[in-house]
Amino acid sequence: MFTDLYDGIVTIAAADSDATINVHKGLLFSQSAKLIDRSTHSKSESVQCSRPIANPIISKGFSVRVNGDSQRILNIFRTWLYTGRLRHIETTVAESHPASLRVQKTESLVDWDDTDLANLYAFAGHLKIRHLQNDITTALIAQCERLNHFVTKEAVKIIFADSERSLLAAYAIEERVRGGITQESMPDDLEDWPAPFLAGVMRTTLRHQPRKDAGQMMSPYTTKDACPFHDHRPAPQERESCREKLRALPVYLH
Ligand SMILES: [Zn+2]
Repeated sequence: MFTDLYDGIVTIAAADSDATINVHKGLLFSQSAKLIDRSTHSKSESVQCSRPIANPIISKGFSVRVNGDSQRILNIFRTWLYTGRLRHIETTVAESHPASLRVQKTESLVDWDDTDLANLYAFAGHLKIRHLQNDITTALIAQCERLNHFVTKEAVKIIFADSERSLLAAYAIEERVRGGITQESMPDDLEDWPAPFLAGVMRTTLRHQPRKDAGQMMSPYTTKDACPFHDHRPAPQERESCREKLRALPVYLH
């Protein structure tokens, strides 16, 4: 257990670029199941930096794979870590402007580039930051509901390159099925989509097909099913009510 939420500074460096951020170690470790595990199972500091760090105040760090615009992704992560909220960097800047009172109220309605969210989700997966992954999923669902569109092909590629079995991958499949697959809505560039995504869409579509004696195909948001899109393990009771919250989108914004 970390009694000190701050406990010194640690550097996170992107593995394949020069991007870095400095964050308080205690704060980071309190969110990352992976880092907690590592520090618990090792007598010495097991988190080592893969390259020298110039700042002597910063005693240690580590590198992690960050895809996309890695500095941007790391900055969004740092903002989330300290504020508990997913914010655009642009929004954060605007908030410091005295005349931007409206920003606070409408920040959640600023459009995300969903490839940023997909890359951030993969990053959060590397460090096992469950709360961040849940927040990203909520933000993506909220945006898709509000703008009435699907997760873009580029984001689907990132999501499936990271993990075919992630909860975000499950959402990408389900929203596509919910939208209804018709001959017209089938993309004509099938070979350009991840095969596991297409397979998942087909499998789920068949599973939801009405039986001869049954009613219409059920929409995921009108079923009583528990939420399958977040990791609700620490609070399983939330899993039952989460579908209701998702249905109330875009009100369901942090
Ligand atoms: Zn949920």
